[in-house]
Amino acid sequence: MTPPRLLDIRGLTITLPQRDRRITAVSGVDLEVERGEILGLVGESGSGKSLSMLAVLGLLPRSAKVGGSVRLDGEEILGAPERRLRKLRGKRVGMVFQDPMTALDPVMTVGAQLIETLRIHEPGLSRSLARRRAIDLLGQVAIAAPEQRIDQYPHEFSGGMRQRVVIAMAIANDPELLIADEPTTALDVTIQAQIVELLERLRRERNLGLVLITHDLGLIAGLADKVTILYSGAIVERGPVFDIFANSHHPYTRGLLRAMPGAEAEGERLVAIPGTPPSPASRPEGCPFHPRCRLAVPRCSAEAPAFRWFGQSMAACHLAEEAARMELRETAHGV
Ligand code: SF4
Ligand code: MG
Repeated sequence: MTPPRLLDIRGLTITLPQRDRRITAVSGVDLEVERGEILGLVGESGSGKSLSMLAVLGLLPRSAKVGGSVRLDGEEILGAPERRLRKLRGKRVGMVFQDPMTALDPVMTVGAQLIETLRIHEPGLSRSLARRRAIDLLGQVAIAAPEQRIDQYPHEFSGGMRQRVVIAMAIANDPELLIADEPTTALDVTIQAQIVELLERLRRERNLGLVLITHDLGLIAGLADKVTILYSGAIVERGPVFDIFANSHHPYTRGLLRAMPGAEAEGERLVAIPGTPPSPASRPEGCPFHPRCRLAVPRCSAEAPAFRWFGQSMAACHLAEEAARMELRETAHGV
């Protein structure tokens, strides 16, 4: 028998109350992560990426209704009692959020916070042993002189160093899965690269499964094994990173690729996707991307596209074959 997947999400649907009705914020999302694998979850803000992961962790407000299935190592955790979820968070699933300051307590030393994190799941751990483990963790996330740093406060650390501390806290109890929500967005570019390197190393050394939530396809290119693209609460395309970058079959993905900074060659220009993503309350009929899509035909506003396979990836677009032929780059002179 093959062992169960580390994370297996099927048909995740989230509705939220809005005035006198409920709106569907996430609809029918499937995601899988194996041990040692990095999944990039990509989309503009409001696409449902963070909501989906908060649902996994049981961290949505009570007014949210969540349907579908979330299995961790074969065990259903959707709708599990709060006591069980609390044991799971930190111990089996670590979390890293965008702004390290929200994850750290400004009036506690970094060491005290790490020790507290360790002792939540191991209450019997002695202070001296916990302190030694905390120093070791700071070393693992490449903080120099951890014996001195451990007694300092978060404000004595730079932004990148703070994010390292948050990552140390997230891995303190040796989780199997790490969920990182925009972990580098608040950091400058060189520091971003160092955090990416750290995540990659931790994945390798600990065989961690990692869900990397981002709007930055560039980050995904260098780090993830596979990628899932969300638009307006639903998946539009998914597959191995190489296939998606080399041969995407969805106009939205291709639009994101065109808008990706840093990839343009001389004489080419970046082209942003026109318009803004719809709010879940006013999602267009048919293909939700149709008001922004360069390829849209009348069918697109009437009929929601089904998923089709293209090699190892799948895309939901009526005109996927045409999409795969769309130019990724425009010359600055040609248009
Ligand atoms: Fe564009 Fe139509 Fe494909 Fe939607 S289904 S992405 S509107 S071509
Ligand atoms: Mg978000």
